[in-house]
Amino acid sequence: MDLYSGHINKLIEELAALPGIGHKSAQRLAFHLINMPKARVERLAQTIVSAKENVRYCKECYTLTDQDVCPVCANQRRDHATIMVVENTRDLAAYEKTGKYIGVYHVLHGAISPMLGIGPGDIKLKELMQRLEGDVQEVIIATNSSLEGETTAMYISKLVKPTGIRVTRIASGVPVGGDLEYIDEVTLLRALEGRVEL
Ligand code: ZN
Repeated sequence: MDLYSGHINKLIEELAALPGIGHKSAQRLAFHLINMPKARVERLAQTIVSAKENVRYCKECYTLTDQDVCPVCANQRRDHATIMVVENTRDLAAYEKTGKYIGVYHVLHGAISPMLGIGPGDIKLKELMQRLEGDVQEVIIATNSSLEGETTAMYISKLVKPTGIRVTRIASGVPVGGDLEYIDEVTLLRALEGRVEL
């Protein structure tokens, strides 16, 4: 027997499909939304739609941005010959918060995971290799220290090495499986400064 109306059930279902939201949280959010003033619900819905319509990949580094080229890539004072490879835009934001990294980034949007069926063709690797045809001196691999992150790092290093471009990996000390975005800035900087040659 359905306890709620069809519309509420549908809303709970949609919310529960979001990452990190279990069925209980989805229920709580659904009832919260239903009880919100209509104007606020409309604003929220509109914000979601306009974010989806206006956010795109940066043409150079593939981070999510409102412009054709993101502010980091557009900044001529950044060192465009040093590319830090990260798994997602949140990781990029974590390094930007330190304010100490002057190179640019490349956002993969994922990591290789044979278990989840995510192969090299499913992340922005081809795009990285295309960038390396330009003037690049170092590729810093800053994928997570999870199994997927390490697999991806190894794969990238094998691809980049034959080009003669320097390849480094951020130092361990970043907790295993730890999402970069949750790591404090001091640890991130130490990992960057202590990077090792691959
Ligand atoms: Zn960019």
